[in-house]
Parts: sequence; C-alpha cells; structure tokens
Amino acid sequence: HNLISISNIKKYYQVGSVVVKALKGVDLKINKNEYVAIMGPSGSGKSTLMNILGCLDTPTDGTYILNGTDVSKLTDDRLAEIRNKEIGFVFQTFNLLPRYTALDNVMLPLIYAGVPKHERIEMAKRALENVGLADRMEHKPNELSGGQRQRVAVARALVNSPSIILADEPTGNLDSKTSVDIMNLFEDIYEQGNTIILVTHEEDIARHARRIIRLLDGMIESDEINPNPTLHQ
Ligand code: ADP
Ligand code: ADP
Repeated sequence: HNLISISNIKKYYQVGSVVVKALKGVDLKINKNEYVAIMGPSGSGKSTLMNILGCLDTPTDGTYILNGTDVSKLTDDRLAEIRNKEIGFVFQTFNLLPRYTALDNVMLPLIYAGVPKHERIEMAKRALENVGLADRMEHKPNELSGGQRQRVAVARALVNSPSIILADEPTGNLDSKTSVDIMNLFEDIYEQGNTIILVTHEEDIARHARRIIRLLDGMIESDEINPNPTLHQ
C-alpha cells in the first residue's frame, strides 16, 4: 500500500462570517522512500497541507490514510500518538530547547515514546553521529552554529525511525553554504531509505527532490517527476 494516501481533502477555516477554503479537494499518493517537494506561492495552502500531512490538524472533508491508518477523523490524543510515531519534523526555526544539550534535545521524542533511558542515550548518540555531530553532543543550541543546530533538529527528527520526515523551509534561516550542507544531509537520509517531504518556496531547494508538487489556490496545479535532481554538491 501507499505510505500516504490522500483523497479529496478539503480544509476550510471559518473566520468570522467568512469561510476560507485553504484546500479545495487534494488527491495525493506518496510511497515509501520518495523525496517530494511541495511548492506554491504564499497562501496556496502549503502550511495547511503540511499540518494535515504531519497530523497536526485534520481535514474538514476527505480521507488521509497514513501507513494503513485512517487519520482523517481521529481525536487530538490519538493524532498526537500517531504523530510521535510516524512523523519526524524539521522546522525553519530549529525549535530546539535552549537549556538542553544536543543529546537531550535528540532524546526528547524517545521519552514521549517510552524508550528506557539507556536505550535513549544509545539511540540519540547514533542519530547525532549520523548527522556528523559526534563531537557536539554536550553542546547547547547557543554553543552551535545555525547549520549544527539544524543537524541536531534532523537527528531529533530521525531518532524515532519515523515513516516520514516532514521539513518546512529547513534552510530558510541558513546562509547559502550551510543550506548546501543541510541539503546534502537530506540526500544522505533519502539514500538511507527514508521518505522526505520538503515544503519550500525556493526553486533551488526543491530541485533536490525527485518529485515536485505545486499548489495553487488550494489545489494541486502540477505533480511531476524531477528529471534532473540536484545531487550531492
Ligand atoms: P501557504 O503556507 O502556502 O502560505 P496557508 O496554508 O498558510 O498557505 O494558507 C492557505 C489559505 O488559508 C490562506 O488564504 C490563509 O490565509 C488561510 N489560512 C491558513 N491558516 C488559517 C487559519 N488558521 N485561519 C484562517 N485562515 C487560514
Ligand atoms: P511557520 O512556517 O508558520 O513559521 P512553523 O514552521 O514553526 O511555522 O510551524 C508549522 C506548524 O507546526 C504550526 O502549525 C506550528 O504550530 C506547528 N509546530 C511548530 N513547532 C512544533 C513542534 N515542536 N511540535 C509540534 N508542532 C509544532
């Protein structure tokens, strides 16, 4: 089965007496080990779709089957459980806890998952080694560069072995050289067999993905294989 199967998803927001139609009937299937970019102008529905894909929100109408489970009509508690198990998030703003070391930040999802402490430490160390931060485990976010902080966030996203990595403008706060490093890291992660969904408005970043979906006005405008993806630079 498809890892993600979305059928005729709609998302409406009521704002006073006005109904805003953020998604107007989106169909989308994504398989394991795909690398997909979601693009579109501001207001086209990217954040709304990403919030639904990431189980942060449910659609007004339509179905979303994630890894065999219908997540379209779950309660917030069930949705949170699925989210913690299935989704690894990477945000533009890193979203690390400032008082925690890199190792503690990466261990957090494992605490929520109920993994015993000695295993948590081993798993978090391996995740940090995987992103090239073996020598930065005891550093706090303000003792790390922007690129290193985003590597910690990527390690945190991966530590639970989620079925999807969902990255929202992951290079939006990074300079161009550091952005290349992070996109090379995503390439490695993709080659390790992970499924990556990247939300971005930057063409240069989207070109790393193998498939590019463009949203316009709450609908999919195009969904195409990228014939010439940018590889390791
Ligand atoms: P994008 O991420 O592509 O900029 P969004 O998904 O944020 O697009 O927004 C799509 C549309 O839905 C826009 O018209 C936006 O104003 C509206 N919208 C998004 N979130 C909300 C919300 N929480 N309440 C009301 N309207 C919203
Ligand atoms: P934006 O793209 O608008 O700057 P973010 O990328 O920070 O926003 O967040 C996108 C969505 O994910 C928002 O709905 C936000 O509430 C939610 N979110 C942000 N951080 C976390 C987090 N650590 N855990 C769960 N949800 C989050």
